[in-house]
Amino acid sequence: MSHGLVSSPTEFASAYIFDLDGTIYLGSQLLPGAKRLIEELRRRRIPVRFLSNNPTRDPDMYVKKLTGLGLPTGLDDICNTVVTTVRWLKQNHPDAVLFPIAEEPLCRALTEAGFELSDDPSRIDIVIASYDRTFDYHKLQVAFDAIWFHKRAILVQTNPDRFCPFPGGRGEPDCAAITAAIEACTGTTCQVNFGKPSPVMLTEALSGLDVDVADCVMVGDRLQTDIQMALDAGMKSACVLTGEASPADIAALDEAHRPTYVLDRVDRLIPARYWGELGWSEDDL
Ligand SMILES: [Mg+2]
Repeated sequence: MSHGLVSSPTEFASAYIFDLDGTIYLGSQLLPGAKRLIEELRRRRIPVRFLSNNPTRDPDMYVKKLTGLGLPTGLDDICNTVVTTVRWLKQNHPDAVLFPIAEEPLCRALTEAGFELSDDPSRIDIVIASYDRTFDYHKLQVAFDAIWFHKRAILVQTNPDRFCPFPGGRGEPDCAAITAAIEACTGTTCQVNFGKPSPVMLTEALSGLDVDVADCVMVGDRLQTDIQMALDAGMKSACVLTGEASPADIAALDEAHRPTYVLDRVDRLIPARYWGELGWSEDDL
């Protein structure tokens, strides 16, 4: 790469936290270098975790997807907003009656965790906004009645993303659009976010790992979520240019908000001095 922003690590970290879409794969294809990178980190027994803000999938759907792409992965290595939402609610509001504006995976996980779900506005304690492709006027009305008319429910959200990017430059409206619709009619403000860049997500991702946050690297393609979460936590960050963020986006940031590393391909996380002994070249996938 010719521009001056690109920089990669010269040492290994204690653990790596990876965003998935735009970082490890795009749509149904692994990105260049992703497979050999993960295999090499695992060979060195360095912990690897995968994070997703997408609440429309069960964690085991990610296990199947990664395994199907040639990266066999266990459930413990996956953390998405289905996991973080359920765990936070269990810890903080175990008896709350919930109205999830959500697709099947989150609704099912909440039910399995023992929560009562209801669309009776006079009984709802918490409205959960999420990425819900079945969102409609009825759901908005229930949320409005629970928050504005009955003045009893609080609003939380699974993730703050405005849209979910697709290959070819397209995308779908994401959770932020639904949160905004509820905030707009009720005048309320969303109180908790369970996805990146929230510390709720990072705590969950690092749980069970005996590592110092400062020695871990968060790797992702979105500046406002992946990279911001790392900055807030005092963690190193690597922004890959294979997804949303462009070199111009990074150049526009002031020094304090820039990622520690900028990578044109994700396997640059393996320090360059090891590439020779691994027999790697830039032409390989
Ligand atoms: Mg991404």
